Amino acid sequence: GGPRFTMAVRSNVNVSVAPILTKLQKECAAPLPVLRNVADAMTADMRAGLVVDGGGELKMILSYIDALPTGNERGLFYALDLGGTNFRVLRVQLGGQEERVQATEFEQVSIPQELMRGTSEELFDFIATGLAKFAEKEAGKFHLPQGRQREIGFTFSFPVKQTSIDSGILIKWTKGFSVSGTPGKDVVACLNEAMERQGLDMRVSALVNDTVGTLAGARYWDEDVMVAVILGTGTNACYVEQMDAIPKLQGNKSPSGRTIINTEWGAFSKGLPLTEFDIDMDAASINPGEQIYEKTISGMYLGEIVRRVLLKMAEEGALFGNSVPEKLSMPFVLRTPHICAMQQDYSEDLQAVGSTLYDVAGVESSLKARKVVIEVCDTIVKRGGRLAGAGIVSILQKIDEDSNGAIFGKRTVVAMDGGLYENYTQYRRYVHEAVTELLGTEISKNVVIEHTKDGSGIGAALLASANSKFDHDY
Ligand code: BGC
Ligand code: MG
Repeated sequence: GGPRFTMAVRSNVNVSVAPILTKLQKECAAPLPVLRNVADAMTADMRAGLVVDGGGELKMILSYIDALPTGNERGLFYALDLGGTNFRVLRVQLGGQEERVQATEFEQVSIPQELMRGTSEELFDFIATGLAKFAEKEAGKFHLPQGRQREIGFTFSFPVKQTSIDSGILIKWTKGFSVSGTPGKDVVACLNEAMERQGLDMRVSALVNDTVGTLAGARYWDEDVMVAVILGTGTNACYVEQMDAIPKLQGNKSPSGRTIINTEWGAFSKGLPLTEFDIDMDAASINPGEQIYEKTISGMYLGEIVRRVLLKMAEEGALFGNSVPEKLSMPFVLRTPHICAMQQDYSEDLQAVGSTLYDVAGVESSLKARKVVIEVCDTIVKRGGRLAGAGIVSILQKIDEDSNGAIFGKRTVVAMDGGLYENYTQYRRYVHEAVTELLGTEISKNVVIEHTKDGSGIGAALLASANSKFDHDY
């Protein structure tokens, strides 16, 4: 006997990843009853949030938008989009009903890591500088009446308590941002101050969430668009709501009788199938206890959950042999694009899985280990995609209940944007499957999930136009 023998047994014979994998699959399972439960709980939560601020986990934020794009919008407008990983600027020349979008131009810059954790002034100065440089190059097909101030739609993809169409207070940062000094402040004021420091004269005519911009951008082309969803670095959804169905609105109703509600569904947490890995990741995050749904389904987190599982499998199940690859214990080394790339490897020896594991975590892997890795990715991604599908259904059924079945009886479009949905084939398939399972085949035929890439920029410009302080007739 002796310790030598015990050691050998531990690492080579009896030790296996199988129990860890089985437990994970069991805990992550999101069969129809679980999805239904989540969808119903989210619908109920939406209602609670419409009654009073703080009534539910979903903030159900008023957008102050009282007119959706019509196609009649005219003129030159700018948009500025501050999202998860990128910041983009755009200009668009709108030509009214017949001509529609006559020209557009954009530039995209990735946000340096240090700015995501710096001060508010640094971040907004960076944005204003980029905007100023971009505005200088306006030429060609773009024209503004003499002496007219440029107007922008500002897409700001974080939870903001709007105070009007062109002002709003940042509630909190999400998606790894922790810029000091912005929470509690009006983000339009922050931008205006930075533009002033740059000597840039532009007017923010509309402040919108990216979901709201996406909805507006899609609605411009298609009147059946009722919902917009982002499945990217972060996640969120908004939808067209009847003002009569918003008790907390108290009076302030527009002639159209409709507005857009930004749900901020990322904050949801009820009834989600969570694991020790989710709980540990949340505890180690910069916003523990917050954005639980977002942490379960969105691009910023899926790779990190997988990493945590693989680390445990390496430590306790000898997934990669006797040693635990050191790099595997670094938070966020494994990103969602990596797990996506691995899941697109259909080769027999899982060559790409092997090289990704090697490049990312310095791991040498056997074919058996690679297969386990794929199983883990699929388990986490399947849960995420299916839960995202339940979220979509929660909104559709809310609208349907309120309109006496008017939604499920006709074509209804969900405008979708975000790199996770766009690039991750399996994830996208799981989203669709869950929606179909929940709604049934007949009804789901009427629900069109339409990918509207980067629609939020044009959408924000359209909303800037609708809220322009100048005449539109040129
Ligand atoms: C933010 C939302 C945003 C979503 C998608 C979330 O983290 O809270 O405001 O719409 O990400 O970008
Ligand atoms: Mg974005």
